[in-house]
Amino acid sequence: MWEAVEYQGEGLRNQNCKASEGDVSVNVIRGFSTTFKHVLEEPITIQYPEEVKVFQERYKGRHHLRRYENGLEKCIGCSLCAAACPADAIWVEAAENTDEARYSPGERYAKTYEINMIRCIFCGYCEDACPTQAIELGHEHELSFTDRRDSIFVKDMLIDPVPERGKPTPQKTEPGVFTRSIPDQENPL
Ligand code: SF4
Ligand code: SF4
Repeated sequence: MWEAVEYQGEGLRNQNCKASEGDVSVNVIRGFSTTFKHVLEEPITIQYPEEVKVFQERYKGRHHLRRYENGLEKCIGCSLCAAACPADAIWVEAAENTDEARYSPGERYAKTYEINMIRCIFCGYCEDACPTQAIELGHEHELSFTDRRDSIFVKDMLIDPVPERGKPTPQKTEPGVFTRSIPDQENPL
């Protein structure tokens, strides 16, 4: 009985070896054909950082907090972006606007706005959740840190510069003009 089992085992081993030899030849031919197919093609390697790849329009990189043309901040501190974030990467703390010191249209603005870039998975859910298109993901991808604290991007790092025709925040505004958090006009004057 032992002999029979041993014989059967040997036969299977030989069968496997034969199959492997055939596979090797086919795989070698396949491998070389793939190599030769690419030999005549233009190289696709980019000499980064001297040369930087142009990304697709839909690429999601570092975030920006947008302003209206008059300089007011689009963010109204509603925290919907933080609620939508699957990585719990956003921290928003809101404060009240007044006509003497106005940061954004409506009642509130983001006093604190932070994104932890180590947590962020660049899914864009924050962008989708925002009712004022205040937070947008841009194309910047060079986000490396040597200290974990540097990965927290605060409001000053995220907010866009004041546009040419605008004024910095806080602004002194006319009472009753910016009462709506989501203004009727795209760029309220
Ligand atoms: S891109 Fe995604 S993970 Fe990153 S902050 Fe926005 S919602 Fe969170
Ligand atoms: S970025 Fe948009 S969703 Fe987030 S707090 Fe500001 S207004 Fe709300």
